[in-house]
Amino acid sequence: MIDMLVYPLNGEPCLRNSCSRCCHETGMLLTKLDINVLVKLGYRLKEFAVRSGQNWRLRNLNGVCFFLKENRCKIYKFRPFGCRLYPLVYDPNEGKIKLDEFCPHRMEFKVQKENVNSLLLMLKYL
Ligand code: SF4
Repeated sequence: MIDMLVYPLNGEPCLRNSCSRCCHETGMLLTKLDINVLVKLGYRLKEFAVRSGQNWRLRNLNGVCFFLKENRCKIYKFRPFGCRLYPLVYDPNEGKIKLDEFCPHRMEFKVQKENVNSLLLMLKYL
């Protein structure tokens, strides 16, 4: 279902730089669809997510995402919307979509209109 909705960013810069920075101390928001997918895979909501106001975010264990094991995402095929689009983020303070300055390789990503549209769609599913 998510695959039909999201137009992911090409993660080639992450692979080329062996980078999983965004999986460390993650605050990634989860959509309702993300949660449904992960629960259907057999994970319990409260083990992989924490409440954040009206929303849920990925849980960190020992400073890294619950799903990061040996520097790899163990649910890569099913990773949340936001992970597929990172470092493209919505900044609520600035009220705009931008490349997250915490990503050291953000300038290596080629963002297309479809990626921005996917992020706008994701915000509706929170
Ligand atoms: S779900 Fe996967 S890609 Fe997303 S932050 Fe966790 S380990 Fe990284």
